[in-house]
Amino acid sequence: TGPLTIAEFANKINKPVTEIVKYFFKKGMMLNQNFILNEDQIGELALEYGYDFKKENSVTKENLLETFEVEDTPESLVERAPIVTIMGHVDHGKTTLLDALRHTNVTKGEAGGITQAIGAYQAIAPRSKKKITFIDTPGHEAFTEMRSRGANATDIIILVVAADDGVMPQTEEAIDHAKNAGVPIIVFINKMDKPDANPDRVKSELMERGIVTEEWGGDIPFIEGSARENIGLDDLLDTILLVAEVEDLKANPNKFASGVVIEAHLDKARGPVASILVQQGTLRLRDILVAGGTHGTIRDIRDDKNKAITQAGPSTPVQIVGLNEVPQPGDKFLVLNDEKIARDIAEAQAQKIARDAMQGSKIVTLDSIKSQI
Ligand code: GDP
Ligand code: MG
Repeated sequence: TGPLTIAEFANKINKPVTEIVKYFFKKGMMLNQNFILNEDQIGELALEYGYDFKKENSVTKENLLETFEVEDTPESLVERAPIVTIMGHVDHGKTTLLDALRHTNVTKGEAGGITQAIGAYQAIAPRSKKKITFIDTPGHEAFTEMRSRGANATDIIILVVAADDGVMPQTEEAIDHAKNAGVPIIVFINKMDKPDANPDRVKSELMERGIVTEEWGGDIPFIEGSARENIGLDDLLDTILLVAEVEDLKANPNKFASGVVIEAHLDKARGPVASILVQQGTLRLRDILVAGGTHGTIRDIRDDKNKAITQAGPSTPVQIVGLNEVPQPGDKFLVLNDEKIARDIAEAQAQKIARDAMQGSKIVTLDSIKSQI
C-alpha cells in the first residue's frame, strides 16, 4: 500500500481520470491526477461510486481506505520564501522602497541585467542569504482584486508611512486590508532623512489604530529608515525573515505546480506571456497547465533576471510562454499535464468569464463556475 492518487483511484474503479478531476472541480477544487487523496476524499468517492466497487472491482470502501495517505504530509513540506506586498499612502515611498530592495545584494557584475519587470522579484537578505519574494505591484487595488478572486498571494504586508506625513487615508486602508486578510504587518517608517521626520508621531497615530510598536509593548515590528538613502533596508529584510519564521511558511515542492497569475500580455513575437507566482509544487518546462480561461504547454520559463530556467519551486515568480491566450491577473493556474483535462477546464472557465463579462461582473471564482461542468 501507499499513497493513492486520483489517477490510481480512477484506475481502480475503471473510470477516466477526467471524471474524478471533474467530480472535485464541481466542488470548487482544482486537483490534478497526481493529487494524493486523503481519507475523507476516498470515503466520499467510495460512496459516490459504491456500485462500481462491488460490481466491477470488488474493492470495498474499507480496503480502499488502507491505501490512503494524507495530502502534504508534514515531511513533504519544506520552508519557502515569504511573499511580501508593500502598501501605504501615495508618495510615502512604496516604489522607491521596492526599487531599493531590488538592488540590495546585487553584485556589480549583475548590474544592468538585474531585473525585468515581471510583476514580482526575489531579493536576498544580506545577512541570512535567504530569499524574499516581493510583489512588484504596490497598490491596494491589485491586492483586493486578487483576494476577491480567491488568490491569496501575500504572506506579509510592509506598511510604508512617511515620517514627515504620518497616518493618511490610504495608510488606514492598508491596515484594514491586512486585518481582513489576516496578514501580519511590518511598519517601515520612511523618509527618516528629512529634517521634519517625526517617528514618534507616526507610532502614536498608528497606536490609535491598533498597530502598536514592540518598543511600546505591542507586537508589530517597526523599522525606521529611508528608501532613498538606503537606510534600514537590511533591518527590514531581516525582520521580514523573522516574521516569516514565526509564520512557519511551508510548501510541498514535490507535486505539480499551482499558483496565481500576476500579470499577462500579448507579445508580438512570443505570443501570450504571463508572469506567474508558483505557490505549491514545482513548475517545469513542457508542463501542461490551465490558467483561468486558457491553457497550454510551457515552452519557456524565465526568472526575474530574464534567465531561462527549466524549473521553479514554491514562492518563485517566473515568466512563462506557451499559453494559448492571455490570462488575467488573479487567475489561478494549475499544472495538469493532461491536454484533454486542461482544455476541458479552460474552456469551461472561459465560458464563465465571458458570461460574467456580459453581465458586468469581473469576479470569477471556482465556486461560481462549478455548475458549468
Ligand atoms: P509611492 O507613491 O508610495 O510609490 O512613493 P514614491 O516611491 O514614488 O516616492 C514619492 C516621493 O518621495 C518621490 O519623490 C521619492 O523620491 C520620495 N522619497 C521616497 N523615499 C524617500 C526617502 O526615504 N527620503 C526622501 N527624502 N524622499 C523619499
Ligand atoms: Mg508608486
